[in-house]
Amino acid sequence: GEIRLEDLEGVGRITAQKLRAAGYYSVKDLAFASAHELALILGSEDRAMAIIRAAQRLVSRGEEFITAKELFEKRKNVEYISTGVKALDDLLEGGIEVGSLTEFIGEFGAGKTQLCHQLSVMVQLPKEKGGLGARALYIDTEGTFRPERVVQIARAKGADPEKVLENIIYARAYNSDHQMLLVDEAKKYIEKNNIRLIIVDSLINHFRSEYPGRENLASRQQKLNRHISQLHKLASLYNLAVVVTNQVMAAPDIFFGNPLKPAGGNIMAHGFTYRIWFRKAKEGKRIARIIDSPKHAEKEAAFAISEDGVTD
Ligand code: ADP
Ligand code: MG
Repeated sequence: GEIRLEDLEGVGRITAQKLRAAGYYSVKDLAFASAHELALILGSEDRAMAIIRAAQRLVSRGEEFITAKELFEKRKNVEYISTGVKALDDLLEGGIEVGSLTEFIGEFGAGKTQLCHQLSVMVQLPKEKGGLGARALYIDTEGTFRPERVVQIARAKGADPEKVLENIIYARAYNSDHQMLLVDEAKKYIEKNNIRLIIVDSLINHFRSEYPGRENLASRQQKLNRHISQLHKLASLYNLAVVVTNQVMAAPDIFFGNPLKPAGGNIMAHGFTYRIWFRKAKEGKRIARIIDSPKHAEKEAAFAISEDGVTD
């Protein structure tokens, strides 16, 4: 079974209790902890480092370095969640990648939330229908999640709406601290509930409104960075997909080209493996464009939004 915190060298019953109280439930959590944060709990940076090293040895089993060939073989087993839209799956070469962070960027009404609803249904479908036969965890910061919409999409996909609703674990985040707390708490649900998709819609909303202006920028970015690294940990520890949405803002310093840019600056730009920009086009159509990816060219695909959800 799972290795307990107490099984680690240098961790007794009292320390294990302290660690759990601070949100470190497993050896995996400790292996990816920051020494600085752990030192605040344990009172010593040296002790924190020793425990992190012990946890890392257990988790990696000395296999930190592998050949590119081995990585290539490993990546053949990477799973994808179909978006339920042929054009978008083609654009993404399979769908939303499991183990990675994907960001949907766009102005209001571009379809970000609609696609989040659809993905929370798609992840539940069996593999042969593009899903993972798993559950979704949905963190809603803007109050725009609508179970009625999930019901419509589930019907369109031939799934039982009641069951689909039961397989979406939902939480409303009321401020940025609460949002980060929810992500910490999520650890308790993930393995028990077979969660393979975490959605945060939108990631940035509370951070922008709570830390307005230049004078708050540094603290906002620092906190945002911590939040994104929380999500990274979950994606790699539990082999699940993370999808977040982001708003766009006016870029006063740009005179040519696109006058809009994604909110959140460099922290967001570097935090996400795949960034997809949605925009509205003629006749209710939407365009998705990959703007940042280690493996895709910058290309576009068109999609629509209807009663049935997001469609080709
Ligand atoms: P955002 O990018 O701001 O999250 P949304 O994903 O909420 O945008 O998209 C909202 C748009 O989705 C609406 O403007 C509307 O065009 C479309 N939409 C929402 N529900 C339906 C529906 N039942 N049928 C058709 N279109 C819908
Ligand atoms: Mg939205």
